[in-house]
Amino acid sequence: MPPSQSRPRVKISERGAMRLKEGHVWVYRSDILSADGVAPGSLVTVADQRGKPLGTALYSSSSQIAIRMLAREEVTDFPALLRQRIAAAIDYRKNIVRDTDAYRVIFSEADFLPGLIVDRYNDILSLQILTQAMDAEFVRATVITELSAGLHPASIAERVDPRVRELETLAPRASRLLQGEKASTIFSMNGVQFHHDVLQGQKTGGFLDQRENYAAAAQYARGEALDVFCYQGGFALHLAAQCTQVTGVDSSRPALEVAEQNAALNRSLIEPGLQRKEIDWIEANAFDLLKDYAASNRRYDTIVLDPPAFAKTKRDLGSALRGYKELNLRALKMLRPGGILVSCSCSYHVSQVDFLEMLGSAALDAHRKLRLIELRGQAKDHPILLDVPETAYLKCAIGHVSI
Ligand code: SAH
Repeated sequence: MPPSQSRPRVKISERGAMRLKEGHVWVYRSDILSADGVAPGSLVTVADQRGKPLGTALYSSSSQIAIRMLAREEVTDFPALLRQRIAAAIDYRKNIVRDTDAYRVIFSEADFLPGLIVDRYNDILSLQILTQAMDAEFVRATVITELSAGLHPASIAERVDPRVRELETLAPRASRLLQGEKASTIFSMNGVQFHHDVLQGQKTGGFLDQRENYAAAAQYARGEALDVFCYQGGFALHLAAQCTQVTGVDSSRPALEVAEQNAALNRSLIEPGLQRKEIDWIEANAFDLLKDYAASNRRYDTIVLDPPAFAKTKRDLGSALRGYKELNLRALKMLRPGGILVSCSCSYHVSQVDFLEMLGSAALDAHRKLRLIELRGQAKDHPILLDVPETAYLKCAIGHVSI
């Protein structure tokens, strides 16, 4: 750790400084005026054009997001700040997380720890490192020590997104256990149980951001239900107790295999509602399947749509909205009067306004009247920091098809 006097300085443009003044914590590379000799992942002092210090930040030498602010003042002891923020993140969840032993413990900028994500699945923690600064050995060691002290996990794993490491010009690493030996566990949300293998699956393994939406959807679900993009069965398993029949659809066979195991784990929960005691899992491309089902006049009482992010960048917005509309249009056509549509989008670039407009336009084209029962977002353990709009990404509309 360099002492703060000798800390490298990064000068930023007027536009960059304005962004920080407005409360955001990022400065893009195009707003960097000078960062001579600043090592990748350094802790830096940010200064405006005239040299006035604006605070302390983490620097990336390769990402388009060159600066992620840590504090508006001088940070003299970075490890102490890390420890304090990790403890605060753990503490925050104590007050807001209910009915689960699986939740996001640290959500990057929204927990003032830019570049660090930690999820808890019962007794296993899964961490993701997204920036050069968070990859430093002393940062990793501090994070692991503090998480262990606060949550006493059986093990801690690191999940690596190779694309992120490449973008940050970090040496490749494999996903692996960092501490402990336990790699799989069972966690529960809203009374439903799930298998978790920390070194397999997508993202950090589960879709914890939908936890509260599962419970909300289950409140209204009934009759015959279709869960499209079901992954390991999050919505389908929650709907099973209320519905007479549930079908889950996904293109990933490994995901459906876990979904099937999850169904077995929850047999007693599923049986009271389902006449056939089974959830059908179908491996298919959702677009093709919905087209076929709509053409053959299949009808449902509840349909969930939870596709992957179609808009990875702003440029994809148009094609993403067309994709969402196609799915929603077909689902709306297949819903019986009185049916329930649960429609989600996890693309940050699709705003809530865009999303509702798309839904309205799909309903119009499908000749259905759609009433919005609830407009929801991500679970509370994925906090939304108002200064950083990028922290709000998930939309979940629950609608009633009246006629
Ligand atoms: N609803 C899930 C999360 C869905 S994530 C939950 O709550 O856990 C998106 C899912 O869409 C992934 O499981 C992915 O395998 C699947 N997928 C992506 N493209 C698909 C396609 N064209 N057809 C069907 N499934 C697809």
